Amino acid sequence: MVEDNLRRIYKELPPEVKLVAVSKFHPCEDILEAYRAGQRRFGENRPQEFAAKAVQLPEDIEWHFIGHLQTNKLKMVLPYASLVESIDSRHLLDAVEKWGSEHGKVIDVLLELHLGAEETKGGFTEAEIEEILTPVPERRAELVEGVEGAYPHIRFRGLMGMATNTDDEAAVEADFVRIEAFKKHLDDWFALPDFTELSIGMSHDWPLAVRHGATIVRIGTAIFGPRIYR
Ligand SMILES: *Cc1c(COP(=O)(O)O)cnc(C)c1O
Repeated sequence: MVEDNLRRIYKELPPEVKLVAVSKFHPCEDILEAYRAGQRRFGENRPQEFAAKAVQLPEDIEWHFIGHLQTNKLKMVLPYASLVESIDSRHLLDAVEKWGSEHGKVIDVLLELHLGAEETKGGFTEAEIEEILTPVPERRAELVEGVEGAYPHIRFRGLMGMATNTDDEAAVEADFVRIEAFKKHLDDWFALPDFTELSIGMSHDWPLAVRHGATIVRIGTAIFGPRIYR
Protein backbone atom coordinates (compact mmCIF):
# COMPACT_ATOMS: atom_id res chain seq x y z
CA MET A 1 0.00 0.00 0.00
CA VAL A 2 2.81 2.38 0.93
CA GLU A 3 4.50 1.56 -2.35
CA ASP A 4 1.32 2.21 -4.40
CA ASN A 5 0.80 5.52 -2.64
CA LEU A 6 4.37 6.57 -3.34
CA ARG A 7 4.16 5.62 -7.01
CA ARG A 8 1.03 7.71 -7.41
CA ILE A 9 2.76 10.73 -5.89
CA TYR A 10 5.99 10.24 -7.88
CA LYS A 11 3.90 10.23 -11.07
CA GLU A 12 2.35 13.61 -10.29
CA LEU A 13 5.19 15.37 -8.54
CA PRO A 14 7.46 17.43 -10.83
CA PRO A 15 10.91 15.78 -10.76
CA GLU A 16 12.63 18.88 -9.37
CA VAL A 17 10.39 18.95 -6.25
CA LYS A 18 11.79 16.95 -3.33
CA LEU A 19 9.46 14.60 -1.48
CA VAL A 20 9.87 14.23 2.27
CA ALA A 21 7.95 11.14 3.39
CA VAL A 22 6.68 12.09 6.84
CA SER A 23 6.95 8.88 8.85
CA LYS A 24 6.19 10.16 12.35
CA PHE A 25 4.15 7.71 14.46
CA HIS A 26 4.71 4.95 11.87
CA PRO A 27 6.95 1.96 12.59
CA CYS A 28 10.31 1.28 10.95
CA GLU A 29 8.77 -1.52 8.84
CA ASP A 30 6.66 1.09 7.04
CA ILE A 31 9.71 3.26 6.44
CA LEU A 32 11.57 0.27 5.02
CA GLU A 33 8.67 -0.46 2.69
CA ALA A 34 8.97 3.07 1.33
CA TYR A 35 12.76 2.70 1.23
CA ARG A 36 12.47 -0.44 -0.89
CA ALA A 37 10.22 1.51 -3.26
CA GLY A 38 13.11 3.96 -3.71
CA GLN A 39 12.22 6.69 -1.23
CA ARG A 40 15.30 8.08 0.57
CA ARG A 41 14.09 11.29 2.21
CA PHE A 42 12.07 11.02 5.42
CA GLY A 43 10.74 13.49 7.99
CA GLU A 44 10.11 13.14 11.70
CA ASN A 45 8.86 15.61 14.30
CA ARG A 46 9.65 14.11 17.72
CA PRO A 47 13.33 14.08 18.78
CA GLN A 48 13.29 10.77 20.63
CA GLU A 49 11.46 8.88 17.93
CA PHE A 50 13.66 10.54 15.30
CA ALA A 51 16.93 9.46 16.93
CA ALA A 52 15.70 5.91 17.57
CA LYS A 53 14.73 5.48 13.92
CA ALA A 54 17.85 7.19 12.53
CA VAL A 55 20.26 4.86 14.34
CA GLN A 56 18.57 1.65 13.21
CA LEU A 57 17.57 2.46 9.62
CA PRO A 58 19.82 2.54 6.52
CA GLU A 59 22.55 5.16 6.57
CA ASP A 60 21.75 6.58 3.15
CA ILE A 61 18.42 7.94 4.36
CA GLU A 62 18.28 11.74 4.26
CA TRP A 63 16.49 12.75 7.45
CA HIS A 64 14.60 16.01 7.79
CA PHE A 65 13.51 17.23 11.20
CA ILE A 66 10.17 19.01 10.89
CA GLY A 67 8.86 19.44 14.44
CA HIS A 68 9.20 21.85 17.30
CA LEU A 69 12.68 21.46 18.75
CA GLN A 70 13.58 22.26 22.33
CA THR A 71 17.16 23.31 22.91
CA ASN A 72 17.78 20.47 25.40
CA LYS A 73 16.98 17.92 22.65
CA LEU A 74 19.52 19.08 20.05
CA LYS A 75 21.80 16.11 20.66
CA MET A 76 19.02 13.74 19.56
CA VAL A 77 18.45 15.57 16.30
CA LEU A 78 21.50 17.41 14.97
CA PRO A 79 23.81 14.39 14.57
CA TYR A 80 21.32 12.78 12.14
CA ALA A 81 19.40 15.59 10.43
CA SER A 82 20.39 16.63 6.90
CA LEU A 83 18.01 19.55 7.20
CA VAL A 84 16.28 21.07 10.22
CA GLU A 85 13.16 22.52 8.59
CA SER A 86 11.53 23.96 11.68
CA ILE A 87 13.74 26.69 13.14
CA ASP A 88 11.09 28.86 14.80
CA SER A 89 12.89 31.11 17.30
CA ARG A 90 16.09 33.08 17.84
CA HIS A 91 16.67 31.11 21.00
CA LEU A 92 16.71 27.87 19.00
CA LEU A 93 18.86 29.39 16.25
CA ASP A 94 21.44 30.53 18.82
CA ALA A 95 21.49 27.08 20.44
CA VAL A 96 21.98 25.35 17.07
CA GLU A 97 24.84 27.74 16.25
CA LYS A 98 26.46 26.92 19.60
CA TRP A 99 26.06 23.15 19.02
CA GLY A 100 27.55 23.49 15.54
CA SER A 101 30.54 25.42 16.84
CA GLU A 102 31.13 22.86 19.63
CA HIS A 103 30.92 19.94 17.20
CA GLY A 104 32.67 21.54 14.22
CA LYS A 105 29.59 21.13 12.02
CA VAL A 106 27.61 23.44 9.78
CA ILE A 107 23.89 22.79 10.15
CA ASP A 108 21.50 23.25 7.21
CA VAL A 109 18.26 24.90 8.30
CA LEU A 110 15.03 26.38 7.02
CA LEU A 111 13.44 29.32 8.80
CA GLU A 112 9.78 28.71 9.59
CA LEU A 113 7.49 31.57 8.60
CA HIS A 114 4.41 31.81 10.79
CA LEU A 115 1.39 31.40 8.53
CA GLY A 116 -2.32 31.35 9.13
CA ALA A 117 -4.42 32.49 11.99
CA GLU A 118 -3.54 29.93 14.65
CA GLU A 119 -1.86 31.72 17.53
CA THR A 120 -0.51 28.46 18.87
CA LYS A 121 1.61 27.77 15.84
CA GLY A 122 5.27 28.69 15.88
CA GLY A 123 7.42 30.53 13.45
CA PHE A 124 8.89 33.92 12.67
CA THR A 125 7.30 36.99 11.16
CA GLU A 126 8.65 38.29 7.87
CA ALA A 127 10.38 41.14 9.72
CA GLU A 128 12.13 38.75 12.10
CA ILE A 129 13.43 36.65 9.22
CA GLU A 130 14.75 39.73 7.44
CA GLU A 131 16.50 40.73 10.62
CA ILE A 132 18.14 37.30 10.99
CA LEU A 133 19.40 37.48 7.42
CA THR A 134 20.57 41.06 7.91
CA PRO A 135 22.54 41.37 11.12
CA VAL A 136 23.77 44.84 10.17
CA PRO A 137 21.25 46.64 7.91
CA GLU A 138 23.77 49.12 6.47
CA ARG A 139 25.89 46.23 5.29
CA ARG A 140 23.39 44.76 2.83
CA ALA A 141 26.08 44.75 0.13
CA GLU A 142 28.24 42.45 2.24
CA LEU A 143 25.25 40.42 3.26
CA VAL A 144 26.62 36.97 2.80
CA GLU A 145 29.57 37.73 5.05
CA GLY A 146 27.14 39.35 7.46
CA VAL A 147 25.06 36.21 7.80
CA GLU A 148 28.12 34.06 8.15
CA GLY A 149 29.46 36.48 10.71
CA ALA A 150 26.45 36.05 12.97
CA TYR A 151 25.94 32.31 12.40
CA PRO A 152 29.10 30.71 11.00
CA HIS A 153 27.83 27.20 11.82
CA ILE A 154 24.42 27.59 10.20
CA ARG A 155 23.64 27.44 6.48
CA PHE A 156 20.32 29.11 5.72
CA ARG A 157 18.70 27.00 3.01
CA GLY A 158 15.27 28.61 2.69
CA LEU A 159 11.80 28.90 4.18
CA MET A 160 9.30 26.44 5.64
CA GLY A 161 5.62 27.08 6.21
CA MET A 162 2.52 25.27 7.39
CA ALA A 163 -0.69 26.59 5.88
CA THR A 164 -3.79 27.20 7.96
CA ASN A 165 -5.36 23.89 8.91
CA THR A 166 -8.68 24.25 7.08
CA ASP A 167 -10.71 22.82 4.18
CA ASP A 168 -11.04 26.34 2.82
CA GLU A 169 -8.78 26.16 -0.20
CA ALA A 170 -8.77 29.93 -0.64
CA ALA A 171 -7.34 30.40 2.85
CA VAL A 172 -4.65 27.81 2.23
CA GLU A 173 -3.81 29.40 -1.10
CA ALA A 174 -3.55 32.83 0.53
CA ASP A 175 -0.91 31.38 2.89
CA PHE A 176 1.03 29.89 -0.02
CA VAL A 177 0.83 33.14 -1.98
CA ARG A 178 2.19 35.00 1.02
CA ILE A 179 5.19 32.72 1.62
CA GLU A 180 5.93 32.46 -2.11
CA ALA A 181 6.01 36.26 -2.40
CA PHE A 182 8.21 36.57 0.68
CA LYS A 183 10.64 33.99 -0.69
CA LYS A 184 10.83 35.95 -3.94
CA HIS A 185 11.40 39.17 -2.03
CA LEU A 186 14.28 37.58 -0.13
CA ASP A 187 15.75 36.22 -3.37
CA ASP A 188 15.58 39.65 -5.03
CA TRP A 189 16.81 41.58 -2.04
CA PHE A 190 19.31 39.28 -0.36
CA ALA A 191 20.42 36.94 -3.17
CA LEU A 192 21.82 34.35 -0.77
CA PRO A 193 23.35 31.59 -2.88
CA ASP A 194 22.22 28.65 -0.68
CA PHE A 195 18.76 30.00 0.12
CA THR A 196 16.97 27.92 -2.51
CA GLU A 197 14.29 25.89 -0.73
CA LEU A 198 10.60 26.54 -0.12
CA SER A 199 9.06 23.75 1.97
CA ILE A 200 5.27 23.96 1.79
CA GLY A 201 2.54 21.42 1.10
CA MET A 202 1.27 18.37 2.95
CA SER A 203 -1.00 15.44 2.06
CA HIS A 204 -4.12 17.47 1.35
CA ASP A 205 -2.61 20.58 -0.22
CA TRP A 206 0.65 19.63 -1.93
CA PRO A 207 -0.51 20.07 -5.59
CA LEU A 208 -1.49 23.64 -4.71
CA ALA A 209 1.86 24.16 -2.96
CA VAL A 210 3.70 22.97 -6.08
CA ARG A 211 1.82 25.56 -8.12
CA HIS A 212 3.13 28.18 -5.65
CA GLY A 213 6.78 27.35 -5.94
CA ALA A 214 7.32 24.51 -3.45
CA THR A 215 10.75 22.89 -3.81
CA ILE A 216 10.04 20.49 -0.92
CA VAL A 217 6.70 18.86 -0.03
CA ARG A 218 6.18 17.00 3.27
CA ILE A 219 3.68 14.19 2.84
CA GLY A 220 2.68 11.76 5.59
CA THR A 221 -0.90 10.48 5.60
CA ALA A 222 -1.15 10.15 1.82
CA ILE A 223 1.82 7.75 1.92
CA PHE A 224 1.56 5.90 5.24
CA GLY A 225 -2.15 6.22 6.04
CA PRO A 226 -3.61 7.71 9.21
CA ARG A 227 -1.39 8.07 12.25
CA ILE A 228 -2.29 6.16 15.40
CA TYR A 229 -1.58 8.53 18.28
CA ARG A 230 -0.45 6.66 21.34
C1 LIG B 1 2.88 15.75 10.19
C2 LIG B 1 3.45 16.83 9.38
C3 LIG B 1 3.35 16.83 7.97
C4 LIG B 1 2.62 15.76 7.19
O1 LIG B 1 1.24 15.88 7.36
P1 LIG B 1 0.23 14.98 6.48
O2 LIG B 1 -1.03 15.76 6.52
O3 LIG B 1 0.11 13.67 7.18
O4 LIG B 1 0.79 14.86 5.12
C5 LIG B 1 3.97 17.86 7.27
N1 LIG B 1 4.65 18.84 7.90
C6 LIG B 1 4.75 18.88 9.25
C7 LIG B 1 5.51 20.00 9.87
C8 LIG B 1 4.16 17.90 10.03
O5 LIG B 1 4.28 17.95 11.36
